[in-house]
Amino acid sequence: MKASRIKINGIVQGVGFRPFVFRIANQNNLNGWVQNTSGGVVIEIEGENIAMDRFLTLLQQELPPLARIETFYEETINPNGYIRFEIRPSKKNTEEYSLVPPDAAICPDCARELFDPTNRRFRYPFINCTNCGPRFTIIKDMPYDRPNTTMSSFTMCDDCNKEYHDPLDRRFHAQPIACPECGPQISLVGKSGVIATKNDAILSARTYIQKGYIVAIKGLGGYLLACDAHNQETLQKLRERKRRSQKPFALMAFNLEMIRKYCFVNNEEQLILQSMQMPIVLLTKNNQNNLPNEVAPSQNTLGFMLPYTPLHLLLCEPDRNYPDVLVMTSANISDEPILYRDEEIYRLFELSDFVLTHDRPIHIRTDDSVVREFAGTITPIRRSRGFAPESVSIPAYIPDILSVGALLKNTITITHQNRAFVSPYIGDLENIETYEAFESTIAHMKSLYQVSPLAVVSDLHLDYLSTQFAQKYSSDYKIPHYQVQHHHAHMAACLAENNWNGTNAIGLCFDGTGLGTDGSIWGGEVLIGNYSGYFRYAHLKNMPLPGGDSAIKKPYRIALSYLTHLGFPLKLSLPPVSYSSSGEISILSKQIQNRINVVHTSSMGRLFDAVSSIIGVCHEISYEGQAAIELENIVDLTCTDRYIFSVNLPDIDIQILFQQILLDLYGGTPAPIMAAKFHNSIASLSLDICMNIKEEKGIDTVALSGGVWQNNTLLKKTTQLLLDNGFHVLIHRVLPANDSSISYGQAVITGMIMNERN
Ligand code: ZN
Ligand code: ZN
Ligand code: FE
Repeated sequence: MKASRIKINGIVQGVGFRPFVFRIANQNNLNGWVQNTSGGVVIEIEGENIAMDRFLTLLQQELPPLARIETFYEETINPNGYIRFEIRPSKKNTEEYSLVPPDAAICPDCARELFDPTNRRFRYPFINCTNCGPRFTIIKDMPYDRPNTTMSSFTMCDDCNKEYHDPLDRRFHAQPIACPECGPQISLVGKSGVIATKNDAILSARTYIQKGYIVAIKGLGGYLLACDAHNQETLQKLRERKRRSQKPFALMAFNLEMIRKYCFVNNEEQLILQSMQMPIVLLTKNNQNNLPNEVAPSQNTLGFMLPYTPLHLLLCEPDRNYPDVLVMTSANISDEPILYRDEEIYRLFELSDFVLTHDRPIHIRTDDSVVREFAGTITPIRRSRGFAPESVSIPAYIPDILSVGALLKNTITITHQNRAFVSPYIGDLENIETYEAFESTIAHMKSLYQVSPLAVVSDLHLDYLSTQFAQKYSSDYKIPHYQVQHHHAHMAACLAENNWNGTNAIGLCFDGTGLGTDGSIWGGEVLIGNYSGYFRYAHLKNMPLPGGDSAIKKPYRIALSYLTHLGFPLKLSLPPVSYSSSGEISILSKQIQNRINVVHTSSMGRLFDAVSSIIGVCHEISYEGQAAIELENIVDLTCTDRYIFSVNLPDIDIQILFQQILLDLYGGTPAPIMAAKFHNSIASLSLDICMNIKEEKGIDTVALSGGVWQNNTLLKKTTQLLLDNGFHVLIHRVLPANDSSISYGQAVITGMIMNERN
């Protein structure tokens, strides 16, 4: 006879963990109880020694699909003489915290029931079970129990109640359990009111989509705009209403087979598409069947996802004459956050003709996550639904910290012990709506994790709304405000998510914009450092950027400034010259000469913009990174030639690079070759500098961070060169390489510095 008390932390709530414990305890004739606490799960269990051992083995081996054990603590206690095993009601203990489960895509069992006419949930759009369904987006407070979710107002019917309490049922203690009798209901709303409800609402929505209308669909973390991806007129209407002229739209198809009509899908991509997260996956077009250009102008890839909720499955279900691919893009205007509140329905009508909505509130918004496959696993591009708020580990225990990120693609991070809770993607902190989302995300995450930060961290840039928030937060809560340099944060983020020990490494931090310690704008940085400090070993030589931030939308102006500054004659045959007006050029050169409203930048992103315009690929952009993406898209992958840079530490001079590009241009070299040579030159520049550092200082670990590394072609070429030359290469696998990882890097750096001071 043996008795134990077991405490488990990890993702153990809302994932069928207690029913699982209940089942394996009963299988082995063990008695006692299991209970959710704010800190995880506690089990008291007693019985025969052999049975106890078997129980512990099963506990580790047969975990439910969504569960994850992170800490396991067992102590032997005196037997209590329990006569059965039971699940006790949850207990709230404010000193502890537990992990909030992310939302999970519909599981195969639920999908089967959804289309089974004999099942009582046949075609019910809110079918879910312990292995799938909404989680993070409906949780208002911890512990995760129905009364703490937006399902609290739905009273279970007798049938659901029976399933919920039956340990042998696959919905035993599934908190969002629902059925057509007792659960949320769907309705289709037109501008003048409700048009249809229940299954009729879905059928009518499908009819409208088929006819070329735009229908807003309430999903897990917000509304998506759905329409026929083949209908050019509708696509144009959608672009006008969203004020989104070129940025690609995400697509959804019923199954893999349908995605394969348009894109290549390799094994890894298939696994990601069908994973519990079901993110948008960027897939290479196969050019066999084509969708209209309006879906994703000038792209080699399409962003596809599978239907991740029962409602999406019902909307995508194939039928004669029904579109095989739907656009499913977030319902927002331009750069505002995705709409998710039912009170905002009037705003949805600015975007859509009809709204397919329901009465299960969304508590916190999440966007669809975006990933792509790289070397057998994923690299995240936008981390949100399905991934957030899963914790990211930190290679040491650090104080509780709130870090607020930078400006673009913002996220916030809260740390506790050795884990970081990185918020879902919030967006660009450039409008009031996004700023409100930023503030409410901070409030919500602080309360979920019961954390009172001991420090607040921001970027160096005082104009950022995030920095201003941190200043105020610091004085309101009387805690220190730390400021971390942008590219140091990038480097630390990449090191920490790879569990780097903290000795010196090389950081190739290539991005668009980040304020440097010298007041100029950095972005083509080779840093040497660790978590608590860095040294700027090399960087692109500063170039003038007249007009500052507004120049970023006009790569041709960047090209003209760079060419002027480097003293190249502006011949009319140069694409950026012929693109601009003559008046514009003379104003620009005066601006540069007299340094009026000119910032200086070592940005790698701007170099890509300039080159993209010089070789005639893209002169003006409508979304961030467009010029670089279009440049990458035309790269001739068979070309191994390259241009050279001249390096005079710490400056990486681009004068010779431009000379060679212009020589090629005037000599009639095709753009795909020039684009390839340019990409190859950045890769070999990276290698050359790293080789130098290795020889000088013996450092052979390289971290690649910054938005430029979302260029898969460049990432592939660079990692290959570095690996071939014996470097240990760290890239982002958990968080995006772009500024969404800044808040995590800021927190890690500050935590390590605070540790050193103590
Ligand atoms: Zn399920
Ligand atoms: Zn029910
Ligand atoms: Fe950045």
